[in-house]
Amino acid sequence: MVRMTVLASGSRGNSTIVASSTTRILVDAGLSCRELMKRMKTAGEEPAGLDAILITHEHQDHVQGLAVTARKLGIPVYFTEPTHRAWVRWVTPRKRMTYTEWLEQRRKQGSGLRAQSSEDSVQRIADSDQERQSPERRAQSSEDQDSGQRSAAGVQNSTGGPGLRPVAMEPDAEELAAAEEALSEAAREPERDPAALPRVEYFRSGSGFRIGDIAVMPFTIPHDAADPVGFVFETEEIRLGIATDLGYLPSNIHVQLRGCDVLMLESNHDLDMLRDGPYPWAVKQRVMSRVGHLSNDAAADFLEKRYDGQAAYVVLAHLSENNNLPELARLTAERALQDRMSLLANRLLLAEQDRPMASIVLK
Ligand SMILES: [Zn+2]
Ligand SMILES: [Zn+2]
Repeated sequence: MVRMTVLASGSRGNSTIVASSTTRILVDAGLSCRELMKRMKTAGEEPAGLDAILITHEHQDHVQGLAVTARKLGIPVYFTEPTHRAWVRWVTPRKRMTYTEWLEQRRKQGSGLRAQSSEDSVQRIADSDQERQSPERRAQSSEDQDSGQRSAAGVQNSTGGPGLRPVAMEPDAEELAAAEEALSEAAREPERDPAALPRVEYFRSGSGFRIGDIAVMPFTIPHDAADPVGFVFETEEIRLGIATDLGYLPSNIHVQLRGCDVLMLESNHDLDMLRDGPYPWAVKQRVMSRVGHLSNDAAADFLEKRYDGQAAYVVLAHLSENNNLPELARLTAERALQDRMSLLANRLLLAEQDRPMASIVLK
């Protein structure tokens, strides 16, 4: 039996479980550990049975609860090396530390992180993040962690453009709780390092590997992160594809997504809503760019012209809460799939931000 459970999808957090009869993988950990646990419980997934965490890219909406979750469950985390480096920079409090320096520091330091207030910690992450980021990166932050009150506030603050602040500057209760949890947990561990993980495994885009009985094929996606990937999973003769956070769909991805039984595809924004919406121009440009997010129309164009129509389920994902409406995304995709939708093929589902989607079960 093969199962896919989307725990959350959207710019405030992404996480999906892919499971065979014997192996279970968490793809991205973009919610606080506590919220991830809560949603797994709601979805009937036992957290203790997870075998590994796979990371697509280092944007906050994909890694928010990573360290705490991995430590809590004591399971390995799979990254590409550039993504791991970027993540380490993101969680490491010291400013302008190179990866080599970080490794050096890690070696020397038995106990590093002082106990601090959680607010302090979130602030430090935001600070170092902002320092590191180009204006474009900063603009991107606002979309990838988009929406909710935090983003609305961020966008309003920054109507002038250059004043844009990372959303993490205004942490909500959940983030504070997550940071607190991470810090108190870190304080209990002998190695007090925010980037410490039980085990790190590197993979490369284009090189397949296995976790238990699930074959994983990572493929490069056009997105403004260090080394972003999508995944195709194969197990028990079932093929599942995940392709979100991409500016467009290049032909190598068309090839990867052939023969999928479940296809999870980004349908991020409606172009008109984005153009007329509240974002500053720089952010709009970034979202629309070739390394931004896939629009409803772009997803539909793929579904109509390039997609082989083989999937039992097509899951529209990473919908923007500011620049899209679920009905609009659904309609656009339905139109593209037209008469290929049936009870057995191309059933269209929408992944949600605020609650887990009912598990898709195959075989
Ligand atoms: Zn992203
Ligand atoms: Zn994202």
